[in-house]
Amino acid sequence: MLSEIITIGDELLIGQVIDTNSAFIAKQLNKIGISVYQITSVQDDKAHILQALQDAESRVDVIILTGGLGPTKDDITKKTIAEYFNDTLVRDDSVLENIESIWKKYARQTLLQVNKDQALVPSKSKVLMNTLGTAPGMWMEKGEKTFISLPGVPFEMKALITNAVIPELKEKYKCPFILHKTLLVYGLGESTLAARIETWEDALPKHIKLAYLPSLGKMRLRISSKGFDKVKVETEVQQQIEQVLPLIKDEFFGYEDEDGNEEAVIGNRLTKIGKTLAIAESCTGGKLAELFTANAGASKYLKGGVVTYSTQSKIDVLSVEEDLIRAHSVVSAQVAEAMAVNVKALYKADFAVATTGNAGPSKGDSVAEVGTVFIAIANENGVFSYKFNFGNPRARVISKAVNKALELLQK
Ligand code: ATP
Ligand code: MG
Repeated sequence: MLSEIITIGDELLIGQVIDTNSAFIAKQLNKIGISVYQITSVQDDKAHILQALQDAESRVDVIILTGGLGPTKDDITKKTIAEYFNDTLVRDDSVLENIESIWKKYARQTLLQVNKDQALVPSKSKVLMNTLGTAPGMWMEKGEKTFISLPGVPFEMKALITNAVIPELKEKYKCPFILHKTLLVYGLGESTLAARIETWEDALPKHIKLAYLPSLGKMRLRISSKGFDKVKVETEVQQQIEQVLPLIKDEFFGYEDEDGNEEAVIGNRLTKIGKTLAIAESCTGGKLAELFTANAGASKYLKGGVVTYSTQSKIDVLSVEEDLIRAHSVVSAQVAEAMAVNVKALYKADFAVATTGNAGPSKGDSVAEVGTVFIAIANENGVFSYKFNFGNPRARVISKAVNKALELLQK
């Protein structure tokens, strides 16, 4: 079963908005066994949209469009779809009611005709009710093929995909089960890792696919398989994992969770063992805290965090001793360790992580070379710190520091 995603909007083609809709939709489609054959972004332009629809229809069974359903003149997706299907637009009363109730709820300005016109849908379409916004989703069929048009606003699109599109596609098409298992591997470059597991990789059955996904300081190794027998697919993949693990035993830190991040892996582990975490950040500027809190359920294990960026704030907020800073400089093992120990006490947490470094671009009045970062971890056994030099530029130093901190937390 194949699908294509077409995202519509001038903003996508001038680089103003990054197409995150496709990534979300692709992930959800993959989970139910529908592969994505192609992703296309087109302008709010009738000829382009018609061409994209025609091309996609010639290739795949399921076509999902997002964007261009707004009330303004630049949003032309609906009209274009009606034309593609030789259809006319008719008013859908339930959509109109939804629009009116949203208007009432948010006490917007007068309901204009253009807003009411958002209740117009192609007569042959089935409406996917969007209770979060005024543009309805639309489901159309042509023989065995399905066309689904969704609003571009990410949270509206996500709700419709999760609550309506995925359940209905699952029902309509009998899809194979697709499994992706992603192993998190630290400290090995891509080619070193590849050499290490070469014999195993070469012996993989054809239908089991392997992908290397490197990013700063870490590697994600994805093993994918699919089939109609879920248990068989899972067993086969598990057997392969058991063969590869001994080859990367010291560098393997766990599995990326289903929705894709290691903060969630750490969080789940802490939740399982009933332990808590506190964070003190300097050079990472709150990025670690942001990553953890992006996952629902973080409150179960994350007690809190501080961004003590200035030297004075390390003294005032974290009670790092002034003498210690004077003796060792603010970017030092001693200060990182004091930050970790003190933030752990401040939040009465079981674990703490702290970062302090000089991310550059210039040395400034810092004693530490550009790229120097100290990361400290405090736990029930004490505190440990590690010195790194992540080079430059600034953004890379910061992301490497974040990844390293996550790696150390998993140890
Ligand atoms: P609505 O009527 O609810 O506005 P719409 O279908 O008209 O829905 P658009 O006007 O196309 O939506 O897009 C609304 C906003 O959604 C855009 O300004 C953009 O920020 C965001 N958006 C649109 N398409 C995408 C996409 N593919 N990825 C990420 N964000 C997107
Ligand atoms: Mg638009």
